[in-house]
Order: sequence, then structure tokens, then C-alpha cells
Amino acid sequence: MKVLKFGGTSVGTVDALRNVKHIVEHQDEQVVVVVSALGGLTDTLIKAANLAAKNDIAAYRIVQDITARHSEIMNQLVEGEAIDDALNRVRALFYELSNAYTDISRSEELTEADIEEVVSYGERLSSLIISLIISNATHFNSLEIIRSNNHECDLEATNANIAKTLGKFKGKVAVMGGFISRDSKSRRISNLGRGGSDYTAAIVASALNANALEIWTDVDGFMTADPKEDANATVIRQMTYDQAQQMCDSGAKVIYAPTIKPVAEKKIPIWVKNTFNRTALGTLITD
Ligand code: ADP
Ligand code: ASP
Ligand code: MG
Repeated sequence: MKVLKFGGTSVGTVDALRNVKHIVEHQDEQVVVVVSALGGLTDTLIKAANLAAKNDIAAYRIVQDITARHSEIMNQLVEGEAIDDALNRVRALFYELSNAYTDISRSEELTEADIEEVVSYGERLSSLIISLIISNATHFNSLEIIRSNNHECDLEATNANIAKTLGKFKGKVAVMGGFISRDSKSRRISNLGRGGSDYTAAIVASALNANALEIWTDVDGFMTADPKEDANATVIRQMTYDQAQQMCDSGAKVIYAPTIKPVAEKKIPIWVKNTFNRTALGTLITD
């Protein structure tokens, strides 16, 4: 089996999601698909929380926009009989999200726990919707699986949960949200760091001894520099875990830095691939 992670841009629009559907449905082995929130959504959820704490009505307009954006994707891409049940499950999440903002407005203060809770809706919504877009996919709730302490994964508890859930899965495609987690002790929502969906995917790949971890993003591979800052940047075809770790530690955000270790320890190859140019070779990271 393999673990495929799709970042925010890769799941941000109807067209991007068509690519994701194509890539996942053309795999010839079992896959766990780890997804980020729709592109930009985590920042939007935080912005709305700040407005809600000031009792600013703009927070509710943002919630309406978020609802409309997800609904549009569902209307375009969720087919057949799934639609009614799907709409109800997603509507329940919209309702809970809206209530979370009402609670923030009422208390007129914004705590760390409030932020952790509202941002978690990004991946809760995206993973549920994407599980309905991909044929024969089963949704797994990351909040019931990933445990952390102070934003670092609690590997013991998490690996035990993975063994009980994904480890027993016999279907073709499992879909789960990246980044989101519950605190090991308090069980409150407490997520991994920003960009942490890569890390979720690495933890799952390691726990399940995956054949590969594929990071699907919006560039052709791991490059010599950030192509947004250096027009001469080129794709590195192959690199070692150590080389990748060094570049990530120096700020190459194409992979979230803590991602490398769990897969390097098990010698699981990492591929960095482009969702929007799926025939490009990408980058292979091994030892
Ligand atoms: P995702 O939403 O898929 O997780 P990110 O925005 O986190 O995507 O990471 C992909 C981005 O990382 C690219 O669009 C690119 O601008 C940036 N980036 C920074 N350094 C590098 C690098 N060395 N190679 C490739 N991309 C890089
Ligand atoms: N949605 C989260 C973020 O924007 C996690 C991720 O995308 O990896 O930071
Ligand atoms: Mg990222």
C-alpha cells in the first residue's frame, strides 16, 4: 500500500479535484489519501475567528462563503446516490462551524483552543467531501486517530489507533484529513503545526509500512530553490533523506520538516509530484 498526500492547492478547486480523483482512481494498489483543507481555508478560518471575537458581522459572511465554496465543489463533483447523505453530513459540519463562531462572539475573547477547534473544520470538511468524490473511498476521522502533545505527534497512542483502524482496512481507498489531531491527555482538538498534513501522511506511511509516501503538490518536484523566488530553480530528480531534511530545515516548505524522519527510519521512499502535471517525473527521496 501507498500513502498519497494532496496539499491545499491540489484540493482547492473543482479542476484540481478532478486531477486528484484521476490520480487516486488510477492507482493499482491500496492507498491511504491524506488531504489538506481547501487552499487558503486555514487562514480564512483564523481570520473569521478574530472577527467573531470582535463581534464583527463579517465573520458570518466568511462562514457563508466557506459554505458556498464547499457546496459548489459537492454540486460539481459528488455523483449519484451519495449526494443526499453526503449533503447531510457536510451540512452538520457547516452547522457546527457556525455555532463555534457564535460561541466565540458570545465570549468576546479568542483562546488558543478556539482557534484549534475552528481550523480543524478545514480538514474535516475537505476529507469528508473528497471521500465522496473518489469512487469506492472510505472516510476515516483523523480526530479519532491522531494524538499529539503540544503539537507533536504522540506516536505511541497514534500508532495504536492506526493499527486498530487503517491497519484493518481491506478496501481500496481510505481518505483522511491531515494536520488535525486531539491532545493525548485532554482529548481537546489540538492540531499539528501549520503545513502539518505532510507529517500526518508520514506518520501513517510509517505505521503501515507503506511502499511509498507521495507528496502531491503544485510544483514539479523538490527544486534547487523556491520557484516563486528564483526563476532559475530546477527540479532535483533524486536526493537523500539527509539532503531533503537539510533543505526543509532551511525553509523549503515544499515538505513540512518533521515529515522526513518517520519515513526515513523505515526507509520508505518519498516522491514529490505535481497534481497539475502528473506525468512529470517528480523527485525521489531515499537513503
Ligand atoms: P501544499 O499546499 O501542496 O502543501 P505548499 O505551498 O506547502 O504546498 O508547498 C509547495 C510550495 O513550496 C511550492 O509552491 C513552492 O513555492 C514552495 N517551495 C519552497 N521551496 C521549494 C523547493 N525547494 N522546491 C519546491 N517548492 C518549494
Ligand atoms: N491546512 C493546514 C495549513 O494550512 C495544514 C496543511 O495544509 O498541511 O497549515
Ligand atoms: Mg505544504
